[in-house]
Amino acid sequence: MTRRIWQIFCERLQKSHYDTDFMTLADILRRAMRVRFKTRRVRRKRRAVSRGSAAHYRAHKKQAREIVERKVDELNALPHYQFTIKRIAIRNQKSRWGSCSAKGNLNFNYKVALLPEHLCDYVVVHELCHLREFNHSRRFWDLVAIAVPDYRARRAELRSRYNVIHRGVEKK
Ligand SMILES: [Zn+2]
Repeated sequence: MTRRIWQIFCERLQKSHYDTDFMTLADILRRAMRVRFKTRRVRRKRRAVSRGSAAHYRAHKKQAREIVERKVDELNALPHYQFTIKRIAIRNQKSRWGSCSAKGNLNFNYKVALLPEHLCDYVVVHELCHLREFNHSRRFWDLVAIAVPDYRARRAELRSRYNVIHRGVEKK
């Protein structure tokens, strides 16, 4: 790996929030490589959540906050969790279900309110666990598994079904 790639990689890493959906280390590295070599886009199509209309966001934001805050209280009470949370924001995000900043702020897509409960739980747990493990390491997933033992299946369901459905709904 050349120094330039490494440098871009580190910049990306610093800028990125660790989100629920797509920004894995491999993605960051792939982007850095593309910048360096100007290679064509060959990676699989990203399934973005897509941003909702302003009206749809307004209509669901409050409900989303209530659900998220209740879920955070409930799930953060579990043994080994009880993380310190600075602020919770509900956003109309384009391509993420949630994210966690290095400062300890949690952001959630308002559309978590429209997910089935088991997937909403997964998103909340995923971001909660980033308060301890700011990465997607083995330790991170072990922490997730305390609350969501079947996190693999839920993650797969979230990615394969709901991202696409929400995009379809929101195009109107
Ligand atoms: Zn994550």
